Amino acid sequence: MLIRKIKDMKQITKRLKKEGKTIGFVPTMGYLHEGHVSLIRCSKKDNDITVVSIFVNPIQFGKNEDLDRYPRDLERDVEICTEEGVDYVFYPSADEMYPEGFSTYVEVEGITRRLCGAFRSGHFKGVTTVVAKLFNIVQPDRAYFGEKDYQQLKVIQKMVRDLNIDVEVIGCPLIREKDGLALSSRNKYLTPEERKSALSISRALFRAKQMFESGEKDPSKLVNEVKRIISSQPLVKEIQYIEVVDPEELTPKKKLEKGDVVAVAVFVGNTRLIDNIKL
Ligand code: AMP
Repeated sequence: MLIRKIKDMKQITKRLKKEGKTIGFVPTMGYLHEGHVSLIRCSKKDNDITVVSIFVNPIQFGKNEDLDRYPRDLERDVEICTEEGVDYVFYPSADEMYPEGFSTYVEVEGITRRLCGAFRSGHFKGVTTVVAKLFNIVQPDRAYFGEKDYQQLKVIQKMVRDLNIDVEVIGCPLIREKDGLALSSRNKYLTPEERKSALSISRALFRAKQMFESGEKDPSKLVNEVKRIISSQPLVKEIQYIEVVDPEELTPKKKLEKGDVVAVAVFVGNTRLIDNIKL
């Protein structure tokens, strides 16, 4: 069922709680793909009711980012949700979420300054604010986030801990195309040639993992190899970062350990892609 108003969603939430139902929640920006579907399936498995939100959150986009051209297809998204047995699709407008006079924000310090946070100022503040609002509206028992956006997952977990929000934040595995490309709504922007260049990202990350598994302990060796593989591609315009970080603090590593995360952000043409792999 498609719900557009906060008031209606809250009423449903209240009723479900009264009935003793557990609520699983999957926040998205829509244009759903198999990555989103995997989160929905996790939620369906663990909870009585699954709520998916579709909201392209304007306050998490920078001035020169892709808010206006972000891909949208509500009809298809609702079809996918129906097929997957989602109980409610929450689809508020920007005015509904940010009415005139809105001026309260949630900001996690520290880990939001690293990786993507260093290049997208204000991005995580927008994310945590909207997710906090959505948690208040949907009141989920569990919320599902993809490890594709690894930093986002860690930032949300930190927010929930720091603010004592009663929700279990569950990270789900990153889903890739058969050829390795991490699924993303933004892949729609890629031309066939750009897509070919973008494949170097996952190829490089797989290679990094292989190096670690063969005994490499020096993070800079991995970073250099990843950089070499990605930068050899003609349509890679800019590598924003390639880092090996601690899986919780997201701080750079001096010596590699199992569980460390290799994270990258790359512009292929005008499309910014992120990817990561756990060692
Ligand atoms: P988005 O619609 O891109 O904001 O993503 C909504 C949720 O889906 C976030 O928790 C993402 O991390 C997750 N997600 C996006 N792409 C993938 C993927 N390839 N594998 C797993 N989860 C994903």
